[in-house]
Amino acid sequence: MKRVIMIDPGHGAETPGKRSPDGTLREYEFNRNVARRLVKKLQTSGFDARLTVNDDTDMPLIQRTNQARDVKRQGYDVLLVSIHANAAGEGWSTANGIETYTNDQAEKLAQIIQSRLIAETGLRDRGVKRADLHITRESARYGIPGVLCELGFMTNKDECTLLKTDAYREKCAAAIAKAICEHYGVPFKTSTESPQQAQKPVDKVSIAINLSVPGYLRDGVSWLPIRAVTEAVGGKVEWCATTKQVRVNGKDLTETIEGGVSYAPARELATALGLQVEWDANNKMVTLKGVL
Ligand SMILES: [Zn+2]
Repeated sequence: MKRVIMIDPGHGAETPGKRSPDGTLREYEFNRNVARRLVKKLQTSGFDARLTVNDDTDMPLIQRTNQARDVKRQGYDVLLVSIHANAAGEGWSTANGIETYTNDQAEKLAQIIQSRLIAETGLRDRGVKRADLHITRESARYGIPGVLCELGFMTNKDECTLLKTDAYREKCAAAIAKAICEHYGVPFKTSTESPQQAQKPVDKVSIAINLSVPGYLRDGVSWLPIRAVTEAVGGKVEWCATTKQVRVNGKDLTETIEGGVSYAPARELATALGLQVEWDANNKMVTLKGVL
């Protein structure tokens, strides 16, 4: 079964409170920063990782868990991980450390995440906990493993300083990504690998022009099956024996062959067909638009 890891950056820019007592650290900004790093790392390791919220809006909790539910209903195995920074009381206080909340479905993973976070950051271990939180409770209702990480206290002076650093955010994202890889038995990969190795994990993308055929996403370029797409929109595919290349409507295309099927970059193929390309990064979906 294909798996989707949904990363939820808790709260939005407009959520009341949710900041350090001196106002220099906003929780939504920390959450989003860590969440984006985490999504990138998971994608590098070959996961289909998606953010529940792409911008700074405060998406209601119900919409966040409904998104996870909807992806599950599309036939995916879903994991939901929500990223937060903790707070205790109104002003500065001594409460400190990291804690991870879990539902029944995520117990094992939550233990791995928590111990990796402690090992990576050296902060105090507040343990894996249960609480009646929307994210863990509602995901459990749909049989989805749900985890909520509280990555240190904004209300603790030392931790607040730490939470503002890139180095700390990177450690948190790395710890959680490594834990997810370990849990699913997937090797953790970093983006410093050679380009050829980095090329290997290919994500499937769907194209929506009244047919649903898989394409590929590689190095930020989506590749679409030339013949299936061209024929679906009534274009003409030719094989040029001299150049040993496929031509669409008389235009040569950059071509790659995967499993006996010829693929071309979405943009090139669309241009040859006189169509426009829209890319939905969240759903890894290419839409070709135009007058046929
Ligand atoms: Zn929070």
